[in-house]
Amino acid sequence: MSPLFPALNRGPAERPALTFGGRSLTYARLAAASGAVAERIRTAGRVAVWATPVLETAVATVGALTAGAAAVPLNPKSGERELGHILADSAPDAVLTAPGAELPAALAGLPRIDVDVRATGPVLPDDADDEAPALIVYTSGTTGPPKGAVIPRRAIAATLDALADAWQWTGDDVLVHALPLFHVHGLVLGVLGPLRRGGSVRHLGRFSPEGVARELGAGATMLFGVPTMYHRVAEAFPADQELVKALAGARLLVSGSAALPVHDHERIASATGRRVIERYGMTETLMNTSVRADGEARPGTVGVPLPGVRLRLVEDDGTPIAAYDGETVGEIQVRGPNLFTGYLNRPDATAAAFTADGWFRTGDMAVRDPDGYVRIVGRKATDLIKSGGYKIGAGEIENALLEHPGVREAAVTGEPDADLGERIVAWIVPADPQAPPGLEELAGHVARRLAPHKRPRVVHHLDALPRNDMGKIMKRALGGHA
Ligand code: ATP
Ligand code: MG
Repeated sequence: MSPLFPALNRGPAERPALTFGGRSLTYARLAAASGAVAERIRTAGRVAVWATPVLETAVATVGALTAGAAAVPLNPKSGERELGHILADSAPDAVLTAPGAELPAALAGLPRIDVDVRATGPVLPDDADDEAPALIVYTSGTTGPPKGAVIPRRAIAATLDALADAWQWTGDDVLVHALPLFHVHGLVLGVLGPLRRGGSVRHLGRFSPEGVARELGAGATMLFGVPTMYHRVAEAFPADQELVKALAGARLLVSGSAALPVHDHERIASATGRRVIERYGMTETLMNTSVRADGEARPGTVGVPLPGVRLRLVEDDGTPIAAYDGETVGEIQVRGPNLFTGYLNRPDATAAAFTADGWFRTGDMAVRDPDGYVRIVGRKATDLIKSGGYKIGAGEIENALLEHPGVREAAVTGEPDADLGERIVAWIVPADPQAPPGLEELAGHVARRLAPHKRPRVVHHLDALPRNDMGKIMKRALGGHA
């Protein structure tokens, strides 16, 4: 029953809450405009939000949350089929959008509410039930069709407050944002996070290293990004000294949604003297672990469990692993106030996602260092290759391949092999398409760095890796054994 956004009603009224596309909203304006939205949807149980990176998306979401209606953010890049699936599954009462936005035919049957950021409505108490569904967010669809995770207000408050503790995140922080607003990274962390703290967010619309440099140079303090963004930043060095200076001056650089390649982490650290902090989360659990702002950011690790989060590693048969030895691989299971309540309309999938004693099965595999730092090895379904009697994580081979000067991007999968059970397959985007590194070269490179049994047996050259809109590699499209 406690407010999600205390700053809306008693916060810094004239501080800019949001800047998107050259337009800004103060806290006072956001309170008034979201109040107007809330008033219009008072009787709705669930509303879809056409989640383009504009002010109206944030106002619509805050309006829905303060009205106690669940918001379903829609990916504007979804094809008709995915959109059809999400609409049929979530059955919203209306769609909220920016005036003038062109909506696809799949949304034509829904009442349309154009959000007016200049409107003024009553300031609502923002006191819906803590367990009431606040957001229904569809998973990224990396491993199968997206599932609608029902996220209560309690989970949003818990995860944002745990991050505030870990990152010393306050109302004085100004976030540079360039992520889409239909996943938890961009929406919960990137928009609701600053608003809960009473700080500011500046959205670039589209990511560019120049935009990041400009905003960090003009007083922004934090950057939240996905690994593909940090890769582009690293590639822009050393030509862009403006960018190096801007990153060096930032308070916090955070990466998440997928593993940050060690090579990019090291390049950014050596150019700027700053280490990118990694955090690990999921749609279903919001945030589970992070390197703390006052902790040591070790490349390839996602830090320690956040306050309130319990984390364990288990064997295939469910036995908890006691070791903190940096070696024993197990599935990450979590519990805590940050968890979702279940998948919409999928009691079977919800039941399968939890153990009998109430732990959520993340499907991610990891080891733990002696001091509790978690290192993700990869996903159980796609990144664990069983070859020659070994269980090999795709991630460390990808990291080793990326250290080769002839490799720009790398993904590793397994495919059936009569002798080995599975053989390691490397998918490479060469730095120079005219001179792609071959199998012998790359196998030798990996064998020298890791171990001979971790060397690829097959190398494919591609122009680009298949990625979804968060920049995650779609291993299914590479014939990965999902
Ligand atoms: P789907 O569940 O539909 O297949 P998805 O799992 O990619 O898609 P999300 O909930 O957006 O959907 O992503 C969560 C997953 O992203 C985690 O389970 C984990 O595999 C990966 N992930 C997130 N952060 C990190 C990180 N810092 N390092 C490595 N992997 C990460
Ligand atoms: Mg998932």
